[in-house]
Amino acid sequence: MPLHKSFDYLCDDDVSIGARVKVSFGRKQVVGIVLSHKDKSDFDKLKSVEEALDNEPLLSKDILDFLFWAANYYHHPIGEVLASAIPKNLRLGKPAEIKKARAFDNQITPAEFETTSEQDNAIKTILGCADSFNGFLLHGVTGSGKTEVYLRITEALLKQGKQVLVLVPEIGLTPQMIARFEQRIDGKVVAIHSQLNETQKTDAYLMAKSAEANVVLGTRSAIFAPMPNLGLVIVDEEHDGSFKQQSSFRYSARDLSFMRAKFANAPLILGTATPSLETLKNVMDKKLTRLVLSTRPGETVMPEVSLIDMRSQSAEAMSLPLIDKMKRHLKNNRQVMLFINRRGYAPVFYCTECDWKAECNHCDSQMVYHRHINRLKCHHCGAEQMPESSCPSCNQSTLKVLGYGTERLEENLESYFPDTDIIRIDRDTTRRKKAFAQHLEKINSGEPCIIVGTQMLAKGHDFSQLAFVGILDVDVGLLSLDFRATENLAQLLIQVSGRAGRSEHKGEVAIQTRYPNHPIFEYVRQANYTKYASSLLKERQQTQLPPFSHQAMICANAKNKAQAEAFLNEVAQLLRSIDLSTVEIWGPVPGVIEKKADYFYFNLYLQSVERQALHRMLNTMYKHIDGIKASGSVRWFLDVDPIE
Ligand code: ADP
Ligand code: ZN
Ligand code: ZN
Repeated sequence: MPLHKSFDYLCDDDVSIGARVKVSFGRKQVVGIVLSHKDKSDFDKLKSVEEALDNEPLLSKDILDFLFWAANYYHHPIGEVLASAIPKNLRLGKPAEIKKARAFDNQITPAEFETTSEQDNAIKTILGCADSFNGFLLHGVTGSGKTEVYLRITEALLKQGKQVLVLVPEIGLTPQMIARFEQRIDGKVVAIHSQLNETQKTDAYLMAKSAEANVVLGTRSAIFAPMPNLGLVIVDEEHDGSFKQQSSFRYSARDLSFMRAKFANAPLILGTATPSLETLKNVMDKKLTRLVLSTRPGETVMPEVSLIDMRSQSAEAMSLPLIDKMKRHLKNNRQVMLFINRRGYAPVFYCTECDWKAECNHCDSQMVYHRHINRLKCHHCGAEQMPESSCPSCNQSTLKVLGYGTERLEENLESYFPDTDIIRIDRDTTRRKKAFAQHLEKINSGEPCIIVGTQMLAKGHDFSQLAFVGILDVDVGLLSLDFRATENLAQLLIQVSGRAGRSEHKGEVAIQTRYPNHPIFEYVRQANYTKYASSLLKERQQTQLPPFSHQAMICANAKNKAQAEAFLNEVAQLLRSIDLSTVEIWGPVPGVIEKKADYFYFNLYLQSVERQALHRMLNTMYKHIDGIKASGSVRWFLDVDPIE
């Protein structure tokens, strides 16, 4: 278990707060960070610091303040918060020196167009109050030129000697965004993301810290990059779930960006075409100013969206009208894209005689068939096995696959379109470093092709030759019990639709569904996300769900189901004994997937309209939780503002 406290050591030399020191801890030597200076300690017999590792603090005061704030807000051990914020090499005590100074020889190409009046207004408004914290929602329809606004504001701030931090959703998007900044910004752009090696990560960190880097562009962990001259924080595609870390220190980089900007006294821009309801609530509460880009610049118009009613189609993945539309666009030498949110060949491997289904031995889930390796794979724990040749239950050779994933769709497409290039983009085809970039390069060459992929495709890409987008299999999102499911589906549909028709030709989008009368589609067809979001916000207000209340989740898991549940029952009892009537407690309830990799998961939920009350309850809980004897093997964690 990580420790919630810090430890006292003696030191004769003058080590600064934020510097690293080598100390002995138990029988080991470890690297620590000096968090404060004390004249006396509550403990006697203190050990001495063995070695000071930094002459200058590694963590400046404002970063330390920010990290303490985050540790406190998420009730997470400061040691682990620090560990998330510092690259591994530095955590291990290696010298804080740049190893491979990179050459920066950007060829700058200035923009060839004037900004639109809406872009102009956004730029002027933000630059007009760039000397203090001010939060903005840059709400621009897909392709409306949000990135152009970031670029122009960044240019202006760099001239004032400031640094700019840009957060983007996930690795797939980073190369494109980096390229755009490098082509336009007369300054040093460094990237921070998980595909860098440790030396690169450390160098990027140190360049940010020394202010040698003018722009730091990265995925969620870049929120912790030290930037002494930080003058602007941008969170692009703020609605994206990947800003939330879903293991150990469970922070939301989007939510933390407010405090990061506040500590730096700098403005914050959250940009998106489909704001999260949390962000729209912040606009309602005047914590953010909404700036709108309502149209695409120039001649580009929004795509036309139609529905294909699958109740009157065969059980094939692709309906006939869909194939017709694809043919039409390909004939015009344009690109088409199909979007299906499932990788692998087929999600079900079953017996047509007795209904036996291949299930994971370690999870409550079905095995997904992957054809190229002829294996059944569990997407939850990674377990793999050869498919049986006859049914383990009735012994007949009546096993078949059911349903579609990207791999099977690709195979289907090859039979319908034997002469067209097919590019599949999912986690299986992009595992190799650079694979994604290579796919993108091919697409950007503009040659007609069919792109098939999962939601990796939904994010911000600008494919200029893409004329048609087909969306398969959205109905799961309509039937889900998760209260955020429709919000997320609307965001996804609008984002995916937004990939179509980015150049002068009008694009087209077709959505296959068995529920064509669901209200969500009317809004998606009008591309009116805002109206749909307001109706969802009203519902959330009536039901007092986030963002109109605040949640925390305590999740426990153990190999022994009863132990996990019993532990949470005791926690629930402890919480109920705390006298805070504004906090509702419900559970424990089994996780959505109760058994994962041989562990049973249970959740306990806390909800309150008063954030303060919720946090007071959590503080009290931490004071007493050691008194609950978690029987041996129960593991648990707290998730503040959970999104799953
Ligand atoms: P978003 O980030 O909102 O999706 P982008 O900034 O990527 O939009 O802009 C979409 C396309 O429009 C890009 O190719 C960009 O260069 C171009 N663009 C942006 N602003 C303008 C403008 N004012 N006039 C003409 N083209 C523009
Ligand atoms: Zn499994
Ligand atoms: Zn059978």
